[in-house]
Amino acid sequence: MRHVLPGTLASRGMALGRARLVRPSRYAVDNRPLAEDEVEAELEQLHRALDTARLELRELRGKLHGALAREVNEFIDAHSLLLDDAELLRGLDDLVKIGHYRAGAALKKQRDRLAAVFEAMDDPYLRSRKEDIDQVIARVVSALQRHTTPEERKIAARVGEILIADTIAPADMAQLAGNGLLGAVTSSGSAYSHSAILARSLGLPMLVGAREALSLLHDDDLILLDAERGEAIVHPTAQDLARYRAWQREAAAEGRRLATLANAATRTRDDVAIRLLANAETPADVALARTRGADGVGLYRTEFLFLRHKGLPSEDEQFIAYRDLVLGMGGLPVTIRTLDLGADKADAAGLVMRGEDNPALGVRGVRLSLRYPAVFTTQIRAILRAACYGPVRVLVPMVTQPDELIAVRTLFKLARQDLKRENIDLPEKLPLGAMIEVPAAAINVRSLLEHADFLAIGTNDLAQYVLAADRGNDALDNIYTPLQPALLRLLSHVIGAGRRAKKPVSLCGEIGGDVNFTAMLLALGLTEFSMHPSQLLLVRDRLATLDHATLRNHATRLLRATTHEHVAELLAQFG
Ligand code: PEP
Ligand code: MG
Repeated sequence: MRHVLPGTLASRGMALGRARLVRPSRYAVDNRPLAEDEVEAELEQLHRALDTARLELRELRGKLHGALAREVNEFIDAHSLLLDDAELLRGLDDLVKIGHYRAGAALKKQRDRLAAVFEAMDDPYLRSRKEDIDQVIARVVSALQRHTTPEERKIAARVGEILIADTIAPADMAQLAGNGLLGAVTSSGSAYSHSAILARSLGLPMLVGAREALSLLHDDDLILLDAERGEAIVHPTAQDLARYRAWQREAAAEGRRLATLANAATRTRDDVAIRLLANAETPADVALARTRGADGVGLYRTEFLFLRHKGLPSEDEQFIAYRDLVLGMGGLPVTIRTLDLGADKADAAGLVMRGEDNPALGVRGVRLSLRYPAVFTTQIRAILRAACYGPVRVLVPMVTQPDELIAVRTLFKLARQDLKRENIDLPEKLPLGAMIEVPAAAINVRSLLEHADFLAIGTNDLAQYVLAADRGNDALDNIYTPLQPALLRLLSHVIGAGRRAKKPVSLCGEIGGDVNFTAMLLALGLTEFSMHPSQLLLVRDRLATLDHATLRNHATRLLRATTHEHVAELLAQFG
């Protein structure tokens, strides 16, 4: 019988498919104790499963590129760390060796123990890390049961399926999307989670918070996932299916219409020119940026070269990556951001400080680069060499105060002198810009503008630091929203300061490519947006419907709003 499950819209779209339920925390466990002579073999099996899980994560990392890799890698890192956690491993071994638990039962026991510890924590962020435990243990259990429960094969064969789960790890989301998954429904989770962000950039419809999903649905139920209305329909009727077909026709027509915008100029309805730049990390991103008509690359995150690498990438390796980026953009400007390692972007080479109590507020971005002048200089030399092949700008992440920019300029000057002595070609000029993602940099932006040639606002981090709310913590959805009045005022302040100083200001955080925020950013005076290339046409299309002058006139009202709900109401009124 037809049944409708309501959920929260996390990624728009519709899909028709069969339900595939995943219950990571429910393990079929064999609780019979091991005989003494079985212990050794059971330990071996357990460690083989752990190795398989580690290998899977490594392979997954190798397969991901671009923005996807960026979103997912931090989760892969967290999960890999858990798999190597000495306490977890010792606990598992003891359960098998001393407690005579079978591997599956030991994993379940450890999962329950750790989950209880995390659940008892006051901190909602730490509480939410329970999800990671579940996902990691589920991966090992799945490896352990591979011969009896071919979970992994099921995953590989998920063409035509809609995943129903409590939560989905971003790593799995990325892998499943590549294997033909049509959409996802989760019983918990939030629209701001990394999986939801990922689903949006993959164009995969997704509902979160569909509380009853796991209890009411069964494997192979036919589901119409309507992530336009925010519901999943089980056993849809002929009428539902007709609506789905109508949506498909409209979506196809919309896709064709958007494609015609690839070569169009980006202008508002009242003919104000807007620059659309791409956040690009891989050759595929660069190709997409070109075909979608980007005006350049507004953010090239170089840390991914370092994260993918075992040791440090050499000057030549970096040079080739940067040069190919510059050549790929065919003469359009390219903004290369210097290394932003630290906090969650932990490297394999050991540069990142370990054991910081508060790594997001620790030695990351330019703070880290300046601690390692030799490593930084290698990157600077590679950038200088690549900049001979086309227009390049250099962007410095996590700037807090002017002396950091001054220090970076000095290192560039010294590297130039060395390259000149070595008779290596040098570019004439190389604009140096600051990311504005630390509140102090935003507030005190005028002093930075004395040393910066341009600014790029990183709202992903700026929001987390202004609101003291971790950008990855689903429990803080009611706080971590880009509509917060305090954030709007900072954005307006920074954009205004840039305009008065006659220096370009772009915005390259997630909201730059989200059409829900285009009107707001235009109202605040932004004229340069940088985004994942998949969003370029959508934003170009949205801009053509907006009246720049009218929105600018609304800016004062927007900036007087006292709550994010109030901002949302105003934006709804402005259209
Ligand atoms: C940001 O913080 O908004 C940003 C673009 O940088 P990243 O997401 O790489 O931290
Ligand atoms: Mg940032």
